[in-house]
Amino acid sequence: MCEICDADLDPADVNGGLVTFQPDDRSRDWRRRAAEEPGFVGHPPDTGWFCGAHIDAARAAARTLTFPEGMRRLRTDGEASDAPALDLQPDLEPDLVGVELGSGRPVASDPFGLQWVEWTVTSIDAHTFAASLRSTLPALMEALGLGSTPALEQRTDRRWNPMDGTQPPWCPFTDTTVDAGSAADGTPIDLEVVLNHWNDDDVANASVSLAIGDRLWISVYRADGSGRDVDTIRLRRPTTGAVLAVVAGLVR
Ligand SMILES: [Zn+2]
Repeated sequence: MCEICDADLDPADVNGGLVTFQPDDRSRDWRRRAAEEPGFVGHPPDTGWFCGAHIDAARAAARTLTFPEGMRRLRTDGEASDAPALDLQPDLEPDLVGVELGSGRPVASDPFGLQWVEWTVTSIDAHTFAASLRSTLPALMEALGLGSTPALEQRTDRRWNPMDGTQPPWCPFTDTTVDAGSAADGTPIDLEVVLNHWNDDDVANASVSLAIGDRLWISVYRADGSGRDVDTIRLRRPTTGAVLAVVAGLVR
C-alpha cells in the first residue's frame, strides 16, 4: 500500500515503487540486525512503497530527508511537492571556509536544518563506487585523527519484501552488503550498499552509505532514484576541511 494515500500497489504497475530515504540511526541499526540475525524479517524503516501519484514527491523528499522526516513533509503538504533544497549558504565550520570543493556545492534545507556538500558525478555502479569509497578509508581515518584503518568484515544479506500476495522468491527483495569494523578507539565504521530489486533482473534503486561513528556520514544515490547506478554524493557532517578534501579528491 502507498505510504501516503493507502492505494493498493500492483507489483506490475511500473509507475509506483519502492523509495529508500536517507539513513538514520534506526535504519542503520535495523540493517545491522537484519544482516546479523538469522530469520530476522520485516521492512527496512527507511524504505516505503509509493503509488504512481506519490512516487515523484517521495523520491524528491528522499534526496534530503530521512523516512520519518519525509513522511511528515509529504503528509503535511497533502500533495506532491518537492522537498526544497533552499539556496542558503550553510554555516560551514570556520575551518571549511576557503576549502576547495571541486565541483561540490554546499546545500542547506529548511525546515530541518540539514546541511551538506553535494557532488554530481557520471553514473556509476553502486558497488563500483563503494569500492572507490572504501579505498579512501585510510585517508578519511587519518583526516579524522582515528589512526589506522581496521580490517572490515563483509556481510551480505537478502531480505524479501512480500507484497500484495507475492511471496519469495517471486516478490521484491533488498540486497544489503555491509563492510563493518571498528577503529582503535572503538569508533564504528559501516560501509553499506543497498540494492532494492523488483526481481533478479530489475533493480528499483541503489544507494551507498559510509558512516564513521558520528564523525562522518556520506550518502550516495541516484538523483532520479532508479537502477543500480548512483550519481549523487552527499557529505553530511563535513567536520573538517581535511575530510572535505579527501571526498572532493575522490569525486574529481
Ligand atoms: Zn499514493
